[in-house]
Amino acid sequence: MRQLSRRRLLAAFPAFAAAAACRAEPQRTPPAPASPAAARPAAASPPAAADPQPVTPYPTPTPAPRPRSAETRLLLTGTPHETPLTIRHSGLPGPAAFVLGGVHGNEPGAWLAADEVAAWEPAAGSLLVLPRANVTAMAAFVRTFDDIGDLNRLYPGDPASPLAMERMAHAILEAAREFAVTLLLDLHESWAFYAELPGAGTGALGQTITVGPGPLQPSFGQQLADLLNPRLSPREQMIVRDGTRFGRPATPVPQGQPNRGRSSLSAGGHVPGLTPVLVEMGQLDQPLERRVELHRLAARAALQLLGIL
Ligand SMILES: [Zn+2]
Repeated sequence: MRQLSRRRLLAAFPAFAAAAACRAEPQRTPPAPASPAAARPAAASPPAAADPQPVTPYPTPTPAPRPRSAETRLLLTGTPHETPLTIRHSGLPGPAAFVLGGVHGNEPGAWLAADEVAAWEPAAGSLLVLPRANVTAMAAFVRTFDDIGDLNRLYPGDPASPLAMERMAHAILEAAREFAVTLLLDLHESWAFYAELPGAGTGALGQTITVGPGPLQPSFGQQLADLLNPRLSPREQMIVRDGTRFGRPATPVPQGQPNRGRSSLSAGGHVPGLTPVLVEMGQLDQPLERRVELHRLAARAALQLLGIL
C-alpha cells in the first residue's frame, strides 16, 4: 500500500490541514468555527440514488421481542452534554441495531443522516439511534474539545470519568448491553477519499466501511458494500477495511500515536454479540447533501441486511 508522509499530504492538499474531520489527534485549540457550507464544492452531485431494495436478512441471533413501543432517553442528563437516545421496538422478533451520529462535531453529514434514521420505524427487532452524541462539539463545529475528550478514543467508557465523552461511551455500551445490540453503526466523515490517498491515515478514510471484531465478521462489510456500490458513482464506491486489529484491548500503542484500540471498533470486545461497523464519507469535493444521502443509504442497507427494515 502506498504510504504518504503527512508533510507530503499537507503539501498536496492544503485544505487537508484545515479540515479537522476524523483526524487522529484531538485538537489542543479548537479552530475557528467553519460553516457546513464551506465544505460544499460547486460541482453538481450525482443523481439521487434510490434506496436499496429489501434483501434476504442477515442471519443473526435475535433477542426476545419487546412490545412495540418508542421512547426517548436522555444520556448525560442534566449536563451541557445531554442528548436524546431514541429507542424503537417493532414488537416482532429480530436483532437490535444502534446507529450513532455526531461523535465528531465537524462531521455534519453523519449527524444530519442520523437525525433521519432516528425517525425510522423498525419492521422487526429494535432500533436505537443516538444522532447527536457530542452536542457541545457540534455547536462549535469542531471535532471535540480536550476537556470532554474524543468519544471515538474512549471506549469502553467510564461512568466516573471527568471526561464527558468517556461517560458517554459508557452510556452507549450500557444501552447496547441492555438491548442485546447486534450492530453498532458509527457514522463519520473524513476529509479526503481513501481510494485517492490510500494509507494517508484517519484524515483520508472517505468512502470506507470498517468492521471491528464481532459475530458479523467476516462477511458483513462486503455484503454492505455489495448492496450499496451498484447504486453509487465510481468516486463514491465504498471500500471495505478490516478493523479486527482495533479490537484488541491490549493493542500496544507506540508513544505519540493515538490509541485507536479504544475507538468504537473495539466495542465488540466489551458487549457480547455486538459487531461495530464504522462508515466514513469523504468531505472533499462531495456536497453535504450527498454525504447525508450516502449515510442514509448506508444505514438503510445495513438495517436491511439485518432484517430490521
Ligand atoms: Zn469522525
